[in-house]
Amino acid sequence: MKRILIFTAGFGEGHNTAARCVQEGIEHLAGDSAHVEIVDLFEACYGRVNEIVRKGYLTAINKTPLLWQGFYTLLDKTPLVQANLATMTRMRKAMEALFDEVQPDAVVSTYPVYNFLIEEIFRLREGRPRNFAQITVVTDSISVNSLWYRCPSDAFIVPNEETAQVMREVGVEPARLHVLGFPVRLAFTEEQKQKETIPALPDLAAGAAPRILYIINSGKKKAGKVMARLLEQPGWQVTVTVGRDGKLQREIAEQVEAAGATDRVQILGWTNRMAELMMTHHVLISKAGGATVQEAIAARIPMLVSQIVPGQEEGNYELLRRNHAGMAAETPKEIAKWLERLFENEGRLCTLWRENLRPISRPDSALQAARFILEAAAPQSLSVPPDASGAAFRRAAAQEEKREKKEAGRPEKRLLLCDFHTHTTYSDGKLTVGELVDLYGQRGFDCLCVTDHLIDPARLIGKVCEWTGLVLSPAQVPEYFETLERERKRAWKKYGMILMSGIEFNKDGLTAKSSAHLLGIDLKTPIDPTQDIKTLIGEIHAQGGLAVASHPHKFQSEWGKNTLYLWEHQDEFAPLLDAWEIANRDDLYTPVGLKRLPFLANSDFHKPKHLHSWKTLLCCEKDPEAIKQCIRENRDVALTLYRDHRFAASLLPSDLRRPVMETVTLPAPSVAALPQAA
Ligand code: ZN
Ligand code: ZN
Repeated sequence: MKRILIFTAGFGEGHNTAARCVQEGIEHLAGDSAHVEIVDLFEACYGRVNEIVRKGYLTAINKTPLLWQGFYTLLDKTPLVQANLATMTRMRKAMEALFDEVQPDAVVSTYPVYNFLIEEIFRLREGRPRNFAQITVVTDSISVNSLWYRCPSDAFIVPNEETAQVMREVGVEPARLHVLGFPVRLAFTEEQKQKETIPALPDLAAGAAPRILYIINSGKKKAGKVMARLLEQPGWQVTVTVGRDGKLQREIAEQVEAAGATDRVQILGWTNRMAELMMTHHVLISKAGGATVQEAIAARIPMLVSQIVPGQEEGNYELLRRNHAGMAAETPKEIAKWLERLFENEGRLCTLWRENLRPISRPDSALQAARFILEAAAPQSLSVPPDASGAAFRRAAAQEEKREKKEAGRPEKRLLLCDFHTHTTYSDGKLTVGELVDLYGQRGFDCLCVTDHLIDPARLIGKVCEWTGLVLSPAQVPEYFETLERERKRAWKKYGMILMSGIEFNKDGLTAKSSAHLLGIDLKTPIDPTQDIKTLIGEIHAQGGLAVASHPHKFQSEWGKNTLYLWEHQDEFAPLLDAWEIANRDDLYTPVGLKRLPFLANSDFHKPKHLHSWKTLLCCEKDPEAIKQCIRENRDVALTLYRDHRFAASLLPSDLRRPVMETVTLPAPSVAALPQAA
């Protein structure tokens, strides 16, 4: 008979759930040929103290999430656990006694701290090696607390590929990682579903009434308000679970009765039918607890996340978000808004989210974990030699130190003032590259991209423009890049400002709808402007640059005609472009904002007075790659209307003010289209 010990702790709901499910899986598979025992040594050894710590944890989550985040980060950063090993002697002794008594074949930990104790025991028992397999069930997703990978273990069972990736990156040997899913109850397996004859989920597309499952386990103040919203929609069927809170149950029952909705609202106290409930409802409203999110994924029920505890639960939520199967909706109003969105058009979005869960749904994860543990319970069967020395831990710690050092050398995140669309005398701007760098550098700008016009000479208007000298001529392009490279070094040395090389590709037709301007930002070498727009975008990306639609909508123009081609073909170009100018100089393009496309705001600088214009603020490291990534992700981006306290032009010595080519005489019919180098 195989003897298996599972260690767990009542901190957060995930560890106990995982432990119970693994036990259930092993007993299901092995029956009498295995004996499984779940032990919470924190509970057993510290009793009241543990209860207080645990309560403190729960209070911290509900009342002061930010404070809790601080504590969680601290736990992640400091070798707290190792330092406290001496004070954990009581637990270690209890564990040792347990090993002597049970003689386990496998020890499974669903809470990482136990692994440190095991290591300590066998370090002290010199010459008496560990004779059981040590397996860790990682219950974190994506935001993985470093305690998990700093601890020694023969094998790690991880919930998903994302978690495996995080652990590989910090140096855990790939052979020790096993992506088997987060263990959920067997009730979620197909076999059990059929045994209990659980009905299929009613089809929204066939006109079924939406069924909402609302699990209230914290944030009870909000519950009444959420219920009020749910009761507003007579077509919704609602099931609420309140746990063991009798008072809350009565309050909600009164609310439902007052609304005359007793026929479509079911109120449950503590229930062991959660799996069935999840499989027979369309949407789940709950906090992002580890077990809840994993069960929802197993049941393929999309989630509206009503609360996310910073730190540990962020990863759970991120898992849903990345897989497009859930959304944070923290206020009653947001919850109602999202439900409406999910259920409109015969529940199209709801069905889509449900489909999105299919690839990551592992309803039989507990059986998989159980199978793995049973096989490993004969230690010689492990594919990786047992980690008796804590070598993996030391390796991971060394890796982590290296990573921290590397990070320490990197610039910090801060707010950066940027302009990615400017012109110089290489095209129709009034300042040379050097003058432009000084103008922006003196004002403390963090990043500037010069984007002189390069025109497609194959087009008629392109030819005409070339004659005017208001655009870069192909012959000048190499010199343009050389000048920018020289100025890049000077800008960094003198002002700490990043200078990027760019090009504004003018693809002008005879009408606004056939005209497009495309910015290539941070280019390394010239690009042939005669290629079509999609090829241009491809070449920009091949250099690691950004492709941005410049002034894509109607502007109050006195200097050129509108360039609407990209906007009119946004279905085609939105997936290819990195961002759209939401603001250009004085113009704001509201429609771009309303579409929630990734945005940038730029001055389209031609002369000093254009300094007073829309600009972009990014919150990221002052580093070209970080800046580009920030724009691509379009997170922590803001637009700002920049007003200098001095009038920019008055600062320039008069000899820097070039004569302006006000009128360009050209043969008709191109006059109307010129000068259109906006
Ligand atoms: Zn332009
Ligand atoms: Zn421009």
